[in-house]
Amino acid sequence: MQVRITVSFPYEAPVSQSLFDRASVVTPGGVNSPVRAFRAVGGTPRFMVSGTGPYLTDADGREYVDLVCSWGPMILGHSHPEVIAAVQEAVAHGTSFGTPGAGEVELAEEIVARIAPVEQVRLVSSGTEATMSAIRLARGFTGRAKVIKFAGCYHGHVDALLAAAGSGVATFGLPDTPGVTGAQAGDTIVLPYNDLAAVRAAFAAHEGEIACVITEASPGNMGVVPPLPGFNQGLADLCSENGALYISDEVMTGFRVSKAGWYGIDGVRPDLMTFGKVMGGGFPAAAFGGRADVMAHLAPAGPVYQAGTLSGNPIATAAGVAQLRLLDDAAYEKVDAVSAEIRGLVTAALAKEGVAHRLQVAGNMFSVFFTDAEVTDYEKAKAQESFRFTAFFHSMLAQGVYLPPSAFESWFVSTTHDAAAVERIAAALPAAARAAAEATA
Ligand code: PLP
Repeated sequence: MQVRITVSFPYEAPVSQSLFDRASVVTPGGVNSPVRAFRAVGGTPRFMVSGTGPYLTDADGREYVDLVCSWGPMILGHSHPEVIAAVQEAVAHGTSFGTPGAGEVELAEEIVARIAPVEQVRLVSSGTEATMSAIRLARGFTGRAKVIKFAGCYHGHVDALLAAAGSGVATFGLPDTPGVTGAQAGDTIVLPYNDLAAVRAAFAAHEGEIACVITEASPGNMGVVPPLPGFNQGLADLCSENGALYISDEVMTGFRVSKAGWYGIDGVRPDLMTFGKVMGGGFPAAAFGGRADVMAHLAPAGPVYQAGTLSGNPIATAAGVAQLRLLDDAAYEKVDAVSAEIRGLVTAALAKEGVAHRLQVAGNMFSVFFTDAEVTDYEKAKAQESFRFTAFFHSMLAQGVYLPPSAFESWFVSTTHDAAAVERIAAALPAAARAAAEATA
């Protein structure tokens, strides 16, 4: 896909360039996940070779303050010594057994202990698997086919859920994707986010047909667009009134915005929930869980099939358990505080340059929209002046601050973003804000 680059910038990473050239020969687009490719902002992605605390170092030896944190998982910063030690201890015993293991029990117990609506949980290897499996289970449990999702919400690259999705799909402006057939998407009803009347109307129009509503607990894949007061509770109520399941996708927010994720903030009780990112400590681990009577329908306890060769992998579960056990109240207070500090700096710098913007927040997740208007749904998110983000992004990158390479993604911080890291961000912001102010479409 062709993306117009609206700013020019010096290329300063020859080793990344050469790795990207090689990658582009053997891998489509040179990357293994589209948003990594910098296509929305132009330029060549930085190939990272190491991470320590709040910093990443690229293949050219340049250091960046990392505000992506691996798209959420690295809430304790990179190479946390206790997580690394847990991984080393686990790996010394072998890497995969294909049998049940103690680590799986420990990780499941950690999740169940933190999140009241999760009575039972099944471990998988990616957020995509978690949402795909939760949808299958909801359909198997209710005997119904249709699924309601919201425009701008991303639930991984599940065929049925790619319609009007956020994240890379939003970044690249793809309405949907070739390869998803009408049959696969035909039972998906896409509604505007934060619009309870639309959900009510869909239930009325499809009485007895809707298996579930899936929503990001607080969306972060069209930029940060929190639910309006009462929206999540309204969804839960409409589902229960209509015999459908309410699935809260906490792959991004889970264990990040509080000990119990977004559920810990709004207290709305879902039937099923999905998790990933933070719970794997930087390894491929994810999960779905919820009501025991629903989970009992899952094989081998019940008839709904779901499986995975590497599900509950011992290294991934060791990393996840170590990370979750370190995430106490003090850790969240630290992440919340540094998030607030960085938000204050960003908004002050943009305001000083007279740049129309809106900083939207969900717990310690946040993103900047280049618009005056409150963003409550995907249409409003798309209406921002994202060309200003491009200029802002490249200025920050050139000054050693690594932001998500898209205006439609959340920014993430960690417990290790200390005064020195914040100072580097503060030093970079004035020039980046000026670049945003001067940018033209
Ligand atoms: N659900 C949400 C809310 C996500 O943010 C993501 C990924 O960003 C996913 C699901 C998919 O997770 P994964 O990339 O691990 O497949």
